[in-house]
Formats: sequence, C-alpha cells, structure tokens
Amino acid sequence: MMPIPGKLFLIGFGPGHVEHMTARARTALQESDVIVGYKTYVELIQDLLTDQVVIQTGMTEEVSRAHEAIRQAEQGKKVAVISSGDAGVYGMAGLIYEVLTEKGWHPTTGVEVEVIPGISAIHSCAALLGAPVMHDACTISLSDHLTPWETIVKRIEAAAEADFVIALYNPRSGRRTRQIVETQKILLRYRSPETPVGLVKSAFRKRQQIVVTTLDKMLEYEIGMLTTVIIGNSSTFVYEGRMVTPRGYQRKYTLDQVKQNLRPHERLTIEAEPWSLSAVQQKTAFASLETEKSPTGIGREARKQPIHPPNDQSIDLFEVTVSPGVANKKVTAQQLALLGEIAGDQGEVIYTPDHYLLLRIPTKEPEPIIQRLMEAGFLLGPVGDVVQVKACDFCEGRKATAIPYAEQLQQKLGGQAVPKVVHIGFNGCGMACYQAVNEDLGIIYRKGGFDLFLGGKTVGRTAHPGRQVATGLTPEQLLSAVEQIVAAYQEEGNPNERFYKFFERVGQVAGYRWEEEVPIQVQPACGVD
Ligand code: SAH
Repeated sequence: MMPIPGKLFLIGFGPGHVEHMTARARTALQESDVIVGYKTYVELIQDLLTDQVVIQTGMTEEVSRAHEAIRQAEQGKKVAVISSGDAGVYGMAGLIYEVLTEKGWHPTTGVEVEVIPGISAIHSCAALLGAPVMHDACTISLSDHLTPWETIVKRIEAAAEADFVIALYNPRSGRRTRQIVETQKILLRYRSPETPVGLVKSAFRKRQQIVVTTLDKMLEYEIGMLTTVIIGNSSTFVYEGRMVTPRGYQRKYTLDQVKQNLRPHERLTIEAEPWSLSAVQQKTAFASLETEKSPTGIGREARKQPIHPPNDQSIDLFEVTVSPGVANKKVTAQQLALLGEIAGDQGEVIYTPDHYLLLRIPTKEPEPIIQRLMEAGFLLGPVGDVVQVKACDFCEGRKATAIPYAEQLQQKLGGQAVPKVVHIGFNGCGMACYQAVNEDLGIIYRKGGFDLFLGGKTVGRTAHPGRQVATGLTPEQLLSAVEQIVAAYQEEGNPNERFYKFFERVGQVAGYRWEEEVPIQVQPACGVD
C-alpha cells in the first residue's frame, strides 16, 4: 500500500515572539497547506503565514481540532497543528498521537508525523527571571479539567517534599481560582514562606509582566491563564531582582576567587564529592562490614570513613592504615607476622610519617582482611582526607593520665571525613616530644590541664607551629572544643583547604581566634604531668 502523501507537523512555536521560534518551526509553517490552532495562537503567528488555509478553533475544542487536522492530512495535505511553547508539553502533540492510536495509525502506511520542538514556558519564563531552573525541576499543571485534583495534590506534595523547583502551568483561570490558593497552602507546609517565587505573564509577548516575590506573598499579585509560576527550591535566592538556584558549585568551589583549591585532576574524585553515590556506597559497604568492637576497643564507631581505595573500580586495591593503638607504639611479633602474611607477594606495607603502617592489598574482598587485623588488636583507619589522631607513647604508659582522652578523641573523631587530612597531635606531657605543636590541632597535657594549639604546618618552606589558643583546659572542655573545631572545619572548610588556611580565612573557630602575633612556644616542662 502506498503511504498517504499528507503530513502532520506538530509545531511548538515557543513563548510568542518570532525570534524565539525555531527555524524548523518557521519552514514547516511555510511548507504547510493548512494551519490548525487555537485562535490566540494563530494570531501570534499570523505574520508568518502566506496562503495557508487557517482552521481556528476555541479553547475546549482540542479533540475536534485533532480529528480535523488528521482528516485534512489524510486527504493529502500538509497540516500544521500549532501549540504555544512546546507541542509536547500540555500541547497538541500527545492528543494527536492518542487520536491516531485510536484510529490504528501506522507510521509506514499512515500520514507522516513530525513533532517540532519549541521553547516551553518553564524555560522562557525562567530566562526572564534569572536562572531559577538550574537544578532539578518539574512542571505541574493546576488544571483539573482533565486531571483529578487528588492527583495534582499528590504531585505538588511529592515535588515540594523532594525539593524540586516547580513550574506551575495553568495556575488560574476565570473559573479555576482556588487551585493556586490550595497549592500555596501545601507548598508552605514544606517550604519556607521566604522561598523565592517568580510570576511571569505573557513571556516574550506584548503584555509581558515579571514579578519576583515570595511564597507567602505570591497571591497578592495577578496570576492568570497566561502566567507561569516558578517556585524556587530550598536554596534558590534572589540577587538584584534575579532568581537564582545554585547548581551546587559552591559545595566544591570557592566562588569568590579565580584560583581554586581543588586542582583540575582532583575535582572528580570521590574525596572531593563525599555526597556522591560512590561515596555513599562506600560508606554503606563499610558500615555493614562488622558490628563487633576490636580488642583495642575501637570498632566501627571510630571509622566513619570507608576503608576503601578512592576509586570506584570495584575495589581492586584495598588500602588501610594500621597501628597497634592510639598510645601504643609496640607492634608484636605475631602482629608483624600477620601483616607479612596478609601483604604476601602482591601487597605492600608502607611506613608513614603519621605513626601508621599503610597496608595496600590488591583484593576485591577486604572484609576478611579487616576482620583478621582487628582480631590481632590493630587499630584500623581509612586512608585519605580524614581526621587522624597522632598520640605519643605516653612514655610507654607511665604518663597514662591523658591516654583515655586521646582514645576518646580517636573514637569520636578518628576517620571522620574532612576537607583535607587533619592531624590531631596528642602529647602526654610538656616535653611534647612527638611535636604536637606542629600539627593541625596540637594537644599537650601539662600540669593537670590541656594546652591547645591550632593551625600548625608541619611541612613546606613556610612550616610553622600552631598558635596556642588555650591553656589548662579540663578534659570536658578539651573534648568539646576539639569536636566543635572539627565540626566547623567540616561545615565551612573548602574542599582541599588545609586546616591552618581555613583557620586563617575564617579568623575564628569555636571561639578561638587566629591572631597575627607570633605563637607562644611550649616551654618544655621536663616530663611533669
Ligand atoms: N505548550 C505550552 C504550555 C501550554 S499550557 C508550553 O510548552 O509552554 C498553557 C500554560 O502555559 C499557561 O497557563 C501558562 O502557565 C503557560 N504559558 C504558555 N505560554 C506562556 C507565556 N508566553 N508566558 C507565560 N506562561 C506561558
């Protein structure tokens, strides 16, 4: 059977102005013999028409419009069915296909169909408002002429809860005035009253109007059939009258400086994206590993970070830091033998400057290894940008008073992810022979209290000790201060920003100030506890 020569163009002509219409939409209009559309729309494209037959219909006549268009095409004509915006977004494209389906249409034997995309209201209106649709967004039509109101409510609630930017189409008409009121009520249950809202009427048409307001005030302005309402998400902000929804760059980049802390090759690593699927999967994989505590008393709680290599290629290389304990520096012969056995010919044991042995084993199944290391009394820790507690040996336990606090710090904070590795140096007496003062956070137990040093830089030409910010802290004061400091760094530190840089930049952390004076050096107290 010969295909029917007629053709249906399903054209979205964009918001209204010819400059925002695609070139294909224009040529298709010119190629057409017949134009079928709603009166107002035909008027909008009038200037582009030459000798085409125009079939104008009213608002609720879409079905008869669709039948008429198909009928004309089946007679061999080229028929343009026009929709504003995009024909596939609350436009005529879907209905034409539905009617064709009912008629048993087949693409090879029936009339040819070409859908020509256009700029939908969500995009034209967003452009006029600024950049509110920079992140996940959805469109919801408030028209309940064809969709049950209950369904619409469900969608509004789901979108509100999931923090989508929402573009409301058909927000209100002469008859439908309550839907937008109900919608605002629902949205206010999930979003702040200050949430930015944009109202755009007749985008790129003669009587264009743009209003930027807030969720609680939006009903004070005119909203009608020609308005699209764009509701911001929880991070949308308004700057100089423009609505902007952040894409998330601020999470990883420092937007007020040209030079970035993260170098290009570091930007897509798991460490730089602790919120990513890969990072979350690693955490979950680790959390499910074991529930029991290791003989050192430091179990799963202490290791908040996954002990996995920082790549996503199904865990080929397993890396873990191993030490005999927070205050214990003695590795037993059995422990060494075990490390040797586990490393075998393929693995590596590397001595690090941080009082750890780094174990690198090519394996896809790290769980049994973790188990054996823990059973042997090792303290395990993840590799990468995490908190590491570096304690001294407390003179083999003779200066033991402060050990429990070092262990508490390890338990609470050790292994927690931070913007850049943080060393907490913990020395058990004023001798500070493990040089805690040079670490990011230095803690020295002296004369029954703790001295706290912040912002040391151990390496580099500009190496310097930390600033003494407190002296004589009680254990409770110390633990709370260190927790607050680490939390502030986790919250406010830029990715890859070293702790001392962070401290310098913010000027104050947990009430302790970065001051430009020369730091006070520790006076060795000759082993006085
Ligand atoms: N197919 C169209 C949508 C048709 S539904 C599209 O893709 O844009 C009609 C609704 O679209 C209107 O109630 C209004 O919410 C929105 N709309 C269409 N054109 C618009 C324009 N120029 N300015 C603002 N909103 C518009």
